[in-house]
Amino acid sequence: MSRKVAISRDDRFLLHKTGHAHPESPSRLASIYRMVDRHFAGTVTTMTPEPATLDQLELVHTPGHVKKILKTAEHKITSMAPDTPVSGHSYLAAWLAAGACMQGVDLLLSGACRAFFSLVRPPGHHALPDRATGFCLLNNLAIAARYARMRYNLERILIVDWDVHHGNGIHDIFYREPGVFYVSSHDLMLFPYSGEAGDTGEAGGRGFTLNMPLSRSFGDGDMAYIYRTVLTPVFRWYTPSMVMIAAGFDAHADDPLGRSAWSENAYFLLARLVCELADADHVPLLLSLEGGYDPGANAASAKAVLEALVSYAPAGPVPAPLDPNAADELLETVFTTHKPYGIVS
Ligand SMILES: [Zn+2]
Repeated sequence: MSRKVAISRDDRFLLHKTGHAHPESPSRLASIYRMVDRHFAGTVTTMTPEPATLDQLELVHTPGHVKKILKTAEHKITSMAPDTPVSGHSYLAAWLAAGACMQGVDLLLSGACRAFFSLVRPPGHHALPDRATGFCLLNNLAIAARYARMRYNLERILIVDWDVHHGNGIHDIFYREPGVFYVSSHDLMLFPYSGEAGDTGEAGGRGFTLNMPLSRSFGDGDMAYIYRTVLTPVFRWYTPSMVMIAAGFDAHADDPLGRSAWSENAYFLLARLVCELADADHVPLLLSLEGGYDPGANAASAKAVLEALVSYAPAGPVPAPLDPNAADELLETVFTTHKPYGIVS
């Protein structure tokens, strides 16, 4: 038996050009599309996205920021931030990336599929309401989360961000809100250098942000162990009505920007874990591609995730943690920090 999985795919995402040798290149997504053709043709449903509307973008972004991106259409190549170059069609790719995630919300909530993977670029999780940063123009998942809350009255959305970089945009946008619970694992020594374990939210959002700074000694087994230990009580306590995954693949050992040592099997294990927890309460699952800068590692990792999404088969043996002491130390920090908020009794 297989799970109904849909993806969004559009060659217009490849029109977003970033210049020679920039890591956020069209080839990092093209390799995933070729992999889908080879391994999942006929298995997953392919959807073509519609661009987001201005009203939808302004659920998260300021009108000034939206206008600034639109202005870039007048130039062959320009820059939204020092590390974020854009070309004449980048605005269209960005509009489509946000639209793809909202299309995923619609399809999931209509029951057309159980999991939806937005295979898009530019990525989104660093984008702030009024600023592009870290290769991100619009915060695709934050827009989708606000859209799901507004259009469908979803009360609790859990966002899991396994990209190696901290998703400071998603983090900041929902930092004072309990309606989105943000869980991120990341390397604090990499851009944007935020996401300390002690940052847990503010005001009504206190306790609804959970940061897990990672050790570079962690491998696939450590990540499977850490995420199972953390997400099991989070699901039980928060009972999300939808789960979103900021699916970056830049913790892969072959990635030129990440400094981690995961293989694609880590992404298989994490996706399978989230499916298992979500299935128990029939919670729909929306994934969106974030970082990942080695085309081959991206294709292998996206393949691993799609395999985990499509099949209900058990995950099989999990490799032993490489650094169990550091993993337990991180879990101790997380649970001590979050104990006052009730995730663990
Ligand atoms: Zn990243």
